[in-house]
Amino acid sequence: MTNSGRARDGERDALQRFVFEKARVRGELVRLDETWREVLRRRAYPPAVREVLGDLMAACALMAATLKFQGGELVLQIQGGGPLRLLVVECRADLTMRATARFDEDLAGLEEQATLRALTRGGHCAITIDPGPGLQAYQGVVPLHGATAADALEEYMTRSEQIETRFWLAADGQRAAGLLLQRLPDHGGRAAPDDDDDLWNRVNVLGRTLTREELLELPGRDILRRLFHDEELRVFESLPVRFACRCSRETVAGIIRMVGRDEIEAVLAERGTLEIACDFCAQRYSFDRAQALAALADRAAPTPTPAG
Ligand SMILES: [Zn+2]
Repeated sequence: MTNSGRARDGERDALQRFVFEKARVRGELVRLDETWREVLRRRAYPPAVREVLGDLMAACALMAATLKFQGGELVLQIQGGGPLRLLVVECRADLTMRATARFDEDLAGLEEQATLRALTRGGHCAITIDPGPGLQAYQGVVPLHGATAADALEEYMTRSEQIETRFWLAADGQRAAGLLLQRLPDHGGRAAPDDDDDLWNRVNVLGRTLTREELLELPGRDILRRLFHDEELRVFESLPVRFACRCSRETVAGIIRMVGRDEIEAVLAERGTLEIACDFCAQRYSFDRAQALAALADRAAPTPTPAG
């Protein structure tokens, strides 16, 4: 590992796109610093859960970057049978992100480097592309029978999207980072005469030499130089990524409607007021009896999806 310096401001919380000039292969690099620490500040996660959450946060930014959407969002959602119960990561078209996970407090018997399969007892990951208001959302599902989030997403991309894709993902208490390589289909067109048929295999072999430490510590330009210095690479300007939650009193009112009158009445009878914290940003919203009943009665307002 070279010591060519720490990341500059423009390289923190940034997404970097690049393409190989000699073949239809593209890549993305992402590095989440403050974006990731904002998630960790709001809830303490055991290392095994933290790792999956960080991996998927990096993956979500990488996948969102490969989609051409003007509005809307990409949502990765794991549903598991415990100890990891639910994990949600969202990346919007403007590259704002949020993430949260629910898990059993008792992680006894689980190693720190537990496989995704062990963490979820054979759960699944849903990939939802919501292109924005008025447009049809699309969802694909992949079973979690592999060891890592990268395994599951590679399987999903190759099988469902039919785009050969490789992910390298890593997260610790400070940072989440990822590298994606993708071989684009040529839509039946003849390959250009200077197409480099071996490039995909070659860059995959190079990608596998990237260590977890390098991915987490090195600035993006150093990673690209270290791996692909012999390839003709076009690197685009990096894009900023940041944490943002879009919860509001209105979305919480929608959750109250979703929970339903009986349960809300029971809580009000016991405590007098309703306290609801946003799963993503921990912002607390309180509703007194009159406000809670008004929220329940507001039939014109939309009811959100369980992910909020
Ligand atoms: Zn929130």
